Amino acid sequence: MPTEDIRASLGLRPVINVSGTMTSLGASIVVPEAIAAMTAILPQFVEINDLQRKASAVIARLTGGEAGFVTASCSAGISLAVAGAMTGADLLAIEKLPDVTPERNEVLVQMGHVVSYGAPVDQAIRLAGGKVVLIGQATSAHRYHMENAINEKTAAAVYVVSHHVVDYGLLKLTEFVEIAHAKGVPVIVDAASEYDLRIFLEQGADIVLYSGHKFLGGPTSGIVAGKKDLVRNAFLQNMGIGRGMKAGKESVFGVMAALEAWEKRDHDGIRAREAGYLQLWRETLEGRPGVTALIEPDPTDNPLDRMRVIICEQQAHITAWDLAEALARGTPPIIVRDHEIEHRHFYLDPCNLHPGQEAIVARRLADELDKAAASNEIIATPLENRSRHRFDSALRWPD
Ligand SMILES: *Cc1c(COP(=O)(O)O)cnc(C)c1O
Repeated sequence: MPTEDIRASLGLRPVINVSGTMTSLGASIVVPEAIAAMTAILPQFVEINDLQRKASAVIARLTGGEAGFVTASCSAGISLAVAGAMTGADLLAIEKLPDVTPERNEVLVQMGHVVSYGAPVDQAIRLAGGKVVLIGQATSAHRYHMENAINEKTAAAVYVVSHHVVDYGLLKLTEFVEIAHAKGVPVIVDAASEYDLRIFLEQGADIVLYSGHKFLGGPTSGIVAGKKDLVRNAFLQNMGIGRGMKAGKESVFGVMAALEAWEKRDHDGIRAREAGYLQLWRETLEGRPGVTALIEPDPTDNPLDRMRVIICEQQAHITAWDLAEALARGTPPIIVRDHEIEHRHFYLDPCNLHPGQEAIVARRLADELDKAAASNEIIATPLENRSRHRFDSALRWPD
């Protein structure tokens, strides 16, 4: 934990993040190596394309790709990779985007992959001038859907790896790649939140995109990696739509440091520490009426377990969403992973805690559940209120 908490002097709430890597909470704890790298380079001038060449070498070494570069975000990476697939190295075409001439701008995506990571996947494609062509239905995509969707206007195919996507009935990456490559279409993989830096290129992807600020613990940024010519064509977009998505010297160097730290990170030690947190929370919740605590693996096989906390409101005297809300409102605020809350459960994600915070989480959970248990009435606000008021605060911003 930092000795001095800057948040108090800013008048910001000292939130504890048990929700995972959330952009809305500041993504992740940046590793000391990346902080040191950013501090070291900020006062210096560099030739930025040369710095990106150095980044390319580090990205290539860690991903097994031929080249790579750093951009503003994974979302930016999707736009730049799609743009590169449409323009090639044509500098005039790059300047004209998002207008596309001649029109070879169709981008295939399985319908079950068109999700929101806080913004729509398809918008990142449209932003580059791409025209999204949906394959299949939400829970079903087959070879014939994709084969028939490919024509002379097809520029690329985008594949999303995420807990957000539909996890059954869709084309696996290897099959998706095989169908695309049979017709000369490059495959772009959005792997923003995936720990495995090599597997998607190994499975045949031409470009893979990662977030620098999620599991890697780097600055806010995106990593583009893959085939040299396609990565270069995406990089050239910095003279076009990529200008507004650029990464500064500190982000480029910060990501290089985060990648090298990742290589040396004590992954087993971290896993063991997180297992200890989960065990503590299990002990805290065990035996409480209406509370079931399950330890579950990550849905996309990242080496990470989370705790699913299932709440039966009749016995616990509070609904899952009211409990999540109470945890978020209290002191200190505990933000849980609540995207499936209508199923009457939330998750506790141990990956973004400073040592010691696990005990605060346990205490706050116990306090809120004790309070609910002592209440004569069941604390149950209608779930509809939550969705109705979801964007109220954002719509009032900055007030
Ligand atoms: C987080 C996420 C993104 C966006 O990443 P940023 O780097 O924050 O732009 C894109 N796709 C998926 C699947 C994500 O989880």
